Amino acid sequence: MTYQNFSLEQLQAIDSAHHLHPFTDHKDLRGAGARMITRAEGPFIYDLEGNQILDGMAGLWCVNIGYGREELAKAAYEQMKELPYYNSFFRCSSPTPVLLAQKIAELAPKGLSQVFYGSSGSEANDTALRLVRQFWALEGKPEKNRIISRRSAYHGSTIAGTSLGGMAGMHGQLHGAVPNIVHVMPPYAFEEAKPGESDDAFGLRAAKAVEDAILEAGVDNVAAFIGEPVMGAGGVKIPPATYWPEIERICRKYDVLLMLDEVITGYGRTGNWFAAETYGITPDTITTAKALTSGYQPLSALLVGDRVADTMVQKGGEFYHGYTYSGHPVACAVALANLNIIEKEGLVERVREDTGPYLNKALAEAVGDHPLVGETRSIGMMAAIEIVKDRNTRERFPGDGSAAVLIRDHAIANGLMMRATGDTMILSPPLIWTRETIDTACERIKSALDAAAKTLI
Ligand code: PMP
Repeated sequence: MTYQNFSLEQLQAIDSAHHLHPFTDHKDLRGAGARMITRAEGPFIYDLEGNQILDGMAGLWCVNIGYGREELAKAAYEQMKELPYYNSFFRCSSPTPVLLAQKIAELAPKGLSQVFYGSSGSEANDTALRLVRQFWALEGKPEKNRIISRRSAYHGSTIAGTSLGGMAGMHGQLHGAVPNIVHVMPPYAFEEAKPGESDDAFGLRAAKAVEDAILEAGVDNVAAFIGEPVMGAGGVKIPPATYWPEIERICRKYDVLLMLDEVITGYGRTGNWFAAETYGITPDTITTAKALTSGYQPLSALLVGDRVADTMVQKGGEFYHGYTYSGHPVACAVALANLNIIEKEGLVERVREDTGPYLNKALAEAVGDHPLVGETRSIGMMAAIEIVKDRNTRERFPGDGSAAVLIRDHAIANGLMMRATGDTMILSPPLIWTRETIDTACERIKSALDAAAKTLI
């Protein structure tokens, strides 16, 4: 790579001249110039100016095994030499995606033993939407095609992903969503629970919103419910323990398929291979991507439950859907090497038994009673800090999340990459973080809050 011949200013100027970034206000970015990340190792990223930053977001919720793993680079190199690409259309296959499908089925909750590949979480959700509608059509119930989702959900940025998701801003720019998708309240106790309402009672009430939507649409018209086990981009919204079992009960009662979007939670983040296990539920589909390769290659896998897959196979007929890169051999080789590392190093168990509970306690101790903090919460290695103006009333600062952005900027300046979404600070570190790394991160978060408090309070 010859970027060393360029100064930061030169690269920023070229970036501004030619590169349109995702989820970015370009007027704003071009005024400021992008942070240029040039390399990464273990839990750290480095920018062009040489700053070392602890990556509290694992890239974009994906680099679960940390950076700089030779095994993944070697797996890609070997696969590229032997078979850099072949498709799995037209009765063809190749060994690497086949063996990865077997591996995923081995790790998946019982009853989900088939895999459909794509390159991104968005693509996998497009597949999921088409698949469940096709399932009901094959069952002779084409009118059973409505999907129930939640406000604040994030299911990707394609037209189907945006339509499934419940982000108001994204819908505002959609100019026509995929029809027959409705959104109900999210299980977000911090803002939605009534005064004095217990967590358990709130969880049941939030699940009831799904039942109400099914009944309103008519049971014969509802294909599926889709949800992230823990809403990620919407602000690490962790549902009460009563929520998912009740959702599963409701879905089974009305014969509505249960689709879990585990693009963030899949492959260990909540302390189990899949959050379905964390919440003790068995969905009909599970969308996965990100940590399947720890982000080293773009790859997604939609896990399909036996009921849906059996109908497809038994009834036959072509499913007119697939991508050039479905089952890309290089991405699949990298995924196999990645899953091998997660298993060999016991990262899922480490999160469940040690670092997950430790993060929960350390974060609460470090900043739980900070004047700017309304709540800290976490599950496994994903955490949130609610930023408030008044801890007692939970009143927010004016300015549409600008307080959280200020804190985030202080955190990055202190050497910790984290994210602000609305009034919530979020953290989703690699699973390789140790207790010491967690302590360092908590110190940096506290310093960032203290620095922001000087201007906010
Ligand atoms: N679903 C969820 C829950 C996600 O968090 C994301 C990405 N953050 C997606 C889907 C979309 O994945 P991708 O960006 O790979 O299309």
